[in-house]
Amino acid sequence: MLGLMQQRELLISSFLDYAEAYHPRVEVVSRLRDGTLHRIGWGGIADRARRLAQALQRLGIRRGARVATLAWNTHRHLELFFGVTGSGIVLHTVNPRLFPEQLRYIIDHAENGVVFFDVEFAGLVADLAPHLPTVHTYVALGVRDELPDLALPNLLAYEDLLAAEDGDFAWPMFDENSASSLCYTSGTTGNPKGVLYSHRSTVLHTFSLMAVDTMAISARETLLPCAPLFHVNCWGIPYAAAGTGAKLVLPGSRLDGESLWELLRDEGVTFAAAVPTVWLTLFAWMERQADLNPGALKLRRVLSGGTAVPRVVIDTLRDRFGATLLQAWGMTELSPLGTVGNLLPRHDALDEEARTALRLKQGRTIYGIELRVVDEAGRPLPRDGTSVGLIQARGPWVLSGYFKGDGGQAVDADGWFGTGDVGTLDADGFLTITDRAKDVVKSGGEWISSIELENLAVGHPAVQEAAVIAARHARWQERPLLLVTCKEGRSVTKAELLAFLAPKVAKWWLPDDVICVDAMPHTATGKVQKARLRSEYADWLERG
Ligand code: ADP
Repeated sequence: MLGLMQQRELLISSFLDYAEAYHPRVEVVSRLRDGTLHRIGWGGIADRARRLAQALQRLGIRRGARVATLAWNTHRHLELFFGVTGSGIVLHTVNPRLFPEQLRYIIDHAENGVVFFDVEFAGLVADLAPHLPTVHTYVALGVRDELPDLALPNLLAYEDLLAAEDGDFAWPMFDENSASSLCYTSGTTGNPKGVLYSHRSTVLHTFSLMAVDTMAISARETLLPCAPLFHVNCWGIPYAAAGTGAKLVLPGSRLDGESLWELLRDEGVTFAAAVPTVWLTLFAWMERQADLNPGALKLRRVLSGGTAVPRVVIDTLRDRFGATLLQAWGMTELSPLGTVGNLLPRHDALDEEARTALRLKQGRTIYGIELRVVDEAGRPLPRDGTSVGLIQARGPWVLSGYFKGDGGQAVDADGWFGTGDVGTLDADGFLTITDRAKDVVKSGGEWISSIELENLAVGHPAVQEAAVIAARHARWQERPLLLVTCKEGRSVTKAELLAFLAPKVAKWWLPDDVICVDAMPHTATGKVQKARLRSEYADWLERG
C-alpha cells in the first residue's frame, strides 16, 4: 500500500523561494575584486537569479545543457548557483586552478556552450578560447565598463543581461532526479571524472547540513565559506544558507589573514568553513599583529575537511578563539559530506586531551550515508576502530556512475562506492583515515600511515609542510621517506626530526630518510602531489 502524501519534487529552487519569502533582508556580503564589500539581501539574490533565468532562456539555453563558471565566491556566482539550476540547466563549476590541458578537457567533455567568468580570469579564458570548440558565448561577471578587451566570440556582460530582464519568472517544476550540477574530480592520474549531482541528491544533502549532528546550519548563523564555490558546490553551504535564511559572507578571492580577520570581526561570523591552510595563514598573520583579541569574535564553530586537520589548528581555535573545530570527511563523489566530527553526550565527561583525540579523527558517520570498511578481497571488517581496510560508501547523495561513463565502474553490484581511502571505523561511526589507498606505505606487508607521520612532522616548530611517500626498499619492499619544507628563516636536520618523531611512533614507522625540499608540488585543490614526489623519489633509498 502506498502512502497518501504529496509528491512534491525536491528542487533546489525551493531553497531560494524560502529565503526570499521569509528572510529577504538577511544579507549576502561579498568581497569584490577591489577589496570593497558588496551587500544584498536574499530577496535581491532571488530577483537577480530569476532575471538570470530569463536571460538564459533568451540565450536559447535548454534544460539539461551544461553551462560553465570560472569564478570566485561572490554574489554573482551564488546567483548562478540558483538561476542556472532553478531553470533545469546544469551548473558546471570549473576549478580555475586546474592545469590548462585539464580545463580544456573538462569544458569539452561537459560540452559547455556558455562560460561565465570573473574578470580576473579574462587572460585564462582568452588563452583557452581557441581550444574550446563547444563554447559559443562568454559572459563576463561584471558591468560593461569592466569588460576586458578580448577577442572572444559573443562576449557579453552579466549585468547587461540582468538589466534587460524584469524578473517576472516562476521557477519551473520538473523531475527531481534531473541533473543540477557537475563537478570534476581533479584526477591525480588519468583524465578528470565528472560527478553529476541531481536536484534530489542536492536537496537531501542540504537537509543533512541543517541537522544538528551534521553542521547545524540555521537562521542564527552567519556563515563564512572559504571553501571555493567551485569545489564540490562549496560543500553545499550556499544551499543550506538559503534553505535556513542564514547570513552568508563570501570572501571573493581574498583568503589572506588580514582580509579574513576583517570579515570575521566586522560581519560577526559564527561559523566558517575552510581547509587547514586557510587557518594556518590566518594564525601566521595574527602572530605579526599586536593587540588582537580573537576571543572577542563571535566565531564559535569551524568546519574543516578535504585533508587531515593538524592539531595546532584545533588547539589554537579552541584556546584563542573559543571556537570548536569540526573535522569533516568526504569527496566530490559524496556531494561531499560523509562524516562530521560532532562528539557524543558521553564525551562531555572526557578531559580536553581525549576530546581533542576524537576531533583529530576524520569525523563521525552522518545519517544518510552508510560507511563500511572492507579488506582487499572486499570482505567486510569489524567496526572496532582498529581493523584497517578500504572505506566504502553508499547513500542517496553518493554517485551511481561517472558522467558519460568515463571513469570506469563507480560502484559495485550492491551500490558500494570504493572511496579510495584507507582507514578504520569504530562502533560510534568515527572514521580515521590513515591513507589514500594509492599513498599507503607497505613495509614488509604492514601498513604505515603516511597521514599520521605527516601530522606528527608538521608539529615540529620548523616544519611548514610534510609529505611521506613509499620508497622502494630491497628488504621491506617499501619504507617511508619524509619530505619537508621549512618555515621562513627556519631549518631542521634529519637527526632532529627523527628524534622529534621517535617518542611518538612505533620504531618501525620511523622514516628511513628525511629530505628538506624548497617547495612541495600541489594539485589544483591544494593537496600535495604525491604521485609527482613518488616519481622523483621512489628510488631514493636504492640510490645509496
Ligand atoms: P581530489 O582531491 O581527489 O580531487 P576531493 O577533493 O573530492 O578529490 O578529495 C577527496 C579526498 O580528500 C578524500 O578521498 C580523502 O582522501 C581526502 N580527505 C577529505 N577529507 C579529509 C579529512 N578530513 N582528512 C583526511 N583526508 C581527507
